[in-house]
Amino acid sequence: MIPMNDFRADPPALMQAQIAACERVLRSGWYVLGNEVRRFEQQWAAACRIEHAVGVGNGLDAIEIGLRALRFSPGDEIITTPMTAFASVLAIIRAGLTPVLADIDPQTALLSRESVQRCLTSRTRGVLLVHLYGHLHEPRAWAQWCAGHGLALIEDCAQSHLATADGGCAGSFGAFGAYSFYPTKNLGAPGDAGALVTHGEALAQTARALRNYGQANRYEHTELGMNSRLDEMQAAILTERLEWLERFTTRRREIARRYRSELANPRIRLLAPASAPESDVHHLFVVLCEERDRLAQHLSDCGVASLIHYPIPAHRQPALPDVRVDPQGLPHAERHAATCLSVPCHHNMTDEQVSAVVDALNRFA
Ligand SMILES: *Cc1c(COP(=O)(O)O)cnc(C)c1O
Repeated sequence: MIPMNDFRADPPALMQAQIAACERVLRSGWYVLGNEVRRFEQQWAAACRIEHAVGVGNGLDAIEIGLRALRFSPGDEIITTPMTAFASVLAIIRAGLTPVLADIDPQTALLSRESVQRCLTSRTRGVLLVHLYGHLHEPRAWAQWCAGHGLALIEDCAQSHLATADGGCAGSFGAFGAYSFYPTKNLGAPGDAGALVTHGEALAQTARALRNYGQANRYEHTELGMNSRLDEMQAAILTERLEWLERFTTRRREIARRYRSELANPRIRLLAPASAPESDVHHLFVVLCEERDRLAQHLSDCGVASLIHYPIPAHRQPALPDVRVDPQGLPHAERHAATCLSVPCHHNMTDEQVSAVVDALNRFA
């Protein structure tokens, strides 16, 4: 089976470097929020070309912590997309705010500005823009639109590591960007990890307190924070994997380019491509098919794994029975959820595997 990810096939040099990093941490005798975390934070901030990175426990917490640091009031509204990992919406609720779900643009599967416009109320405070599947789309226009409406722009960058557009990196356009380093993300740790990036010194400082029980100084708690500390082992390994991220992203782009040029099956459609190669880091390669479930079965029969991102849009989740949505409904998100299928696109795929996926997709009748 051609898998969605295969970390055992990572380059031996990377495996060695990670093992050395583990030994380095074990021998240091310091395991949580230490030099490795500081070093990774500096390197991640530099890679994102942004002043501050704050390492936290995971991507969900990165969004929650950033939102809490923005000091909105309970019940204030954040507009986001229903076509995302549930964590995007959950983080808004956990921050004491109210999510409002706008529809997607069917061409990109990304948040539709027209729909966001329809969701605005006097309680709207921000837009959580999700760079879904790795596609950073018109971030400057979003930043300007949000500024024009007095709203904060927040970026969910969990799928868009180092995507660039409009002269900036994902996470650098709004109040803060939230990254996840869950194992399957483009930059993944062998466990849970995340980071918040921001140009704002004060926001970074608040986030540093919030991740550690709200401590401003040792044993002085200026607010009620949480425990979302990044540990030294994850940080040390992330530092090693970061060295390889550009190469791995280049490989994803090669694979996506081949899919785009070689797929030729009228039953299978693709999303609109990014306006420039650097604006998409291809966290997931998604195809659209009216007979999606039959396609998934066919791929499986051909030895090709696939997954659905996402089969149930947030507004259809049992945990969100009365979430507010666009008054015109969310038809595009629902259609996308019914037709989308992610096929393997990861840095360890061989050319032969890419060919096998293309063949399997083209043979679907
Ligand atoms: C993975 C993901 C998250 C959550 O990250 P965790 O580290 O799993 O908490 C949030 N948003 C999106 C779009 C994601 O893909």
